[in-house]
Amino acid sequence: MAQPSLAKLEREQLISWNPATGEEIGRAALTSPEEVARAVNRAREAQPAWTARSFRERGRLIMKARRVILDELDEIALLISQETGKPAAEAISLELAPALDLMQYFARRTAALLWPKRISVGQYALMGRSSYEVYKPLGVVGIISPWNFPWATPMAEVVMAMMAGNAVVLKPSELTPLTGLKIKEVLSRAGVDDGLLQVVTGDGSTGAALVGAGVDKVMFTGSVNTGKRVAEAAARYLIPVVLELGGKDPMIVLEDADVPNAARGAVWGAFANCGQACASVERCYVHESIAPRFIDAVVAETKRLRQGLGTEPNVDVGSMTSERQLLTVERHIDEAVGKGATVLAGGHRTEDLSSTFFQPTVLTNVNHDMTIMRDETFGPVLPIMTFKTDDEAVRLANDSVYGLTASVWTKDIDRGKRLAELIDAGTVMINDIIYTHGIASTPWGGVKHSGFGHTHGRAGLLELVHAQHIHVNRWAFLPDLWWFNYGADAARLFRGFARRFASGSVLQSSLLVPQMTRRWRKRGRD
Ligand code: NAD
Repeated sequence: MAQPSLAKLEREQLISWNPATGEEIGRAALTSPEEVARAVNRAREAQPAWTARSFRERGRLIMKARRVILDELDEIALLISQETGKPAAEAISLELAPALDLMQYFARRTAALLWPKRISVGQYALMGRSSYEVYKPLGVVGIISPWNFPWATPMAEVVMAMMAGNAVVLKPSELTPLTGLKIKEVLSRAGVDDGLLQVVTGDGSTGAALVGAGVDKVMFTGSVNTGKRVAEAAARYLIPVVLELGGKDPMIVLEDADVPNAARGAVWGAFANCGQACASVERCYVHESIAPRFIDAVVAETKRLRQGLGTEPNVDVGSMTSERQLLTVERHIDEAVGKGATVLAGGHRTEDLSSTFFQPTVLTNVNHDMTIMRDETFGPVLPIMTFKTDDEAVRLANDSVYGLTASVWTKDIDRGKRLAELIDAGTVMINDIIYTHGIASTPWGGVKHSGFGHTHGRAGLLELVHAQHIHVNRWAFLPDLWWFNYGADAARLFRGFARRFASGSVLQSSLLVPQMTRRWRKRGRD
């Protein structure tokens, strides 16, 4: 049989490159739309048997997958590092460890979190009524994920969707297909049915095919522009979607903050993952009275960072994951500098490393007329502005179309909480940054252009089920008072419902009992 040509192979395959070295790491299939549809059908066939299994049995498989991951922790970290350029140590701290924690949390807690819930029906209870909610799996969940956390982001959603009783088809980013396939591999090795979790690899067209392939919900994480396209397509197919989109997250440093600690926090918050986290510090606002001290500490700390190949030890900051993103970083910095920004550290590609390395960069003299303070930069840049009052800090923080996370730094926790509640963001951390994405029990999700819906926490789990309401009338022998027919007496009683029953007061409602009894008696005679 003739060998397929290399050009044909490349059309049918996705090549995964190491962004730091330019070397090929491996290849994955370019899944066709027909294959995506077949994957969804197979997932649908596998789902009923999985749903029939108890939470305990599902949890046992997830815990088994945890052990497979722990056995290969360093190998997986290396793969993540190769596909993204991030330090392998960071792949463990920001991806593997939080995902392992989330796995044990949902393996153990999903049954309790999805326990049927009684709903108070108020005065209807006096008429023998009761209500409760049960949580049923959606069916097949489509997960579309980005490249910046190629393990933690999809793994969390896969585990939560499966624990809730769903089958899953995952479409990892085209830049990190091998990490996506590794997720499938560890779960398969733990015994997860082949049809129940499937990974379709490819670019945006594969993602678009997944949205249109008959899934019951799409969990999308990625950029605002793609999120809008996914939402439009989901509307066409009338399926729900969770959108976890970009951010331009502000950090507010009040005058009573612990300056050295806030500076270290800012540097980690801006440069961890090479600044390619949706919740990276993208804007820093520092009170003018402490600004010189804070900025000096930030610059000193930034200059201490060691940049290099993520696969080598003792590296703090790796390469960027994509050339396209690096061009955005350069465009934002060039424009800011052109408009008067000052570069206090970095500002350029890193000369002695390959072209995807960009120096951790600190900017001052920035303002909200600059793109760098308005659009997501998604790279190793920390622009710092000063403010005079708390009101001004909140106004600046909220002057953005984004609203993913924010942080407030202060020793006065009550003041921090007051400010936190004034900020338009899904999560506000006081004296901390980014990391609640790693707490399995807390919700994650943005407002404004950062998206809608949740992942993580009970709120995230509820996205993956259908809450079915069951209502019971124990007085099976009595017709409802609002049923036909509507004579003058009925109309009088209905006015009573409007004035008294609908007031919510049991006392007021009790005044209707004679009228209600009369109607019941009369209807009994009809
Ligand atoms: P992206 O929008 O380019 O791609 C995300 C995923 O969508 C990829 O798998 C891609 O192949 C797929 N895709 C592209 N076009 C599609 C289409 N028409 N239909 C369906 N799927 C399609 O995003 P990216 O560059 O991979 O990721 C970076 C972005 O993700 C940043 O904006 C970042 O802030 C955001 N992000 C958000 C969160 C969060 O929790 N809010 C977490 C991580 C990343």
